[in-house]
Amino acid sequence: MTLYKITPLHLGTIRRRKSNMILDSPPCDAQGDFPLLAYYLEGTHRILVDTGGNPPEDPYGQKAQPYTRTPEQELPRALRAAGVAPEDIEIVILTHLHWDHAANNHLLPNARFYCQRAEYEFIQNPTPEASMGYEFERVRKTRYELVDGDARLFDSVSVLLTPGHTKGGQCVVVDTAEGKTVLTGDLITLRESYRMNPPMPNGLCIDREAMLDSLKKVKAVSDRILPGHDPGVLPPGGGL
Ligand SMILES: [Zn+2]
Repeated sequence: MTLYKITPLHLGTIRRRKSNMILDSPPCDAQGDFPLLAYYLEGTHRILVDTGGNPPEDPYGQKAQPYTRTPEQELPRALRAAGVAPEDIEIVILTHLHWDHAANNHLLPNARFYCQRAEYEFIQNPTPEASMGYEFERVRKTRYELVDGDARLFDSVSVLLTPGHTKGGQCVVVDTAEGKTVLTGDLITLRESYRMNPPMPNGLCIDREAMLDSLKKVKAVSDRILPGHDPGVLPPGGGL
């Protein structure tokens, strides 16, 4: 068994209503700043989980939610700061294909890209009601290795099919010195929602029941979770 080292990458900042981030949270107009995150996993393989958003100023960005990004938060620079060059990333696992998680695949020339077949099939024939958050032209350009449901991809690295936020969302389960660590994508956006009793997933979902089932799946296997948009995973403040 390989124990992977995980480094969160801060790839920009989005301003959002906090009540949108946690299912069943009371309506509230308070806004907060939440990071766009990817995670670099170093072990037997050099793996990236998610690739961040498109440039805030490009035409695709007009269609997505506005966000800010400094030069240091561009993916190539963030990777180098974590000790790896973009061309040395071997594997990318995409939790889902929304604009803020899958827009920089083209910057990783030597990687193989894994996503769930259900997510891939959705982007070929999207339904209007579940299309918010995707920039279809951009994510269709990648050639994907398609995964069917729960699967062990490599030694110490598995995925769980966890629909609810999107049709074919997946979580990544990694062996680390801190135990089984689950990178949840946007099934869970904030760690505090996982600490609620009962734990609550993301407030933005296309299928509430599926999302609650997915959360149970994560809870059954996780010693630690790393959410999709939690400022608390970044230093200062303790990091992971
Ligand atoms: Zn997201």
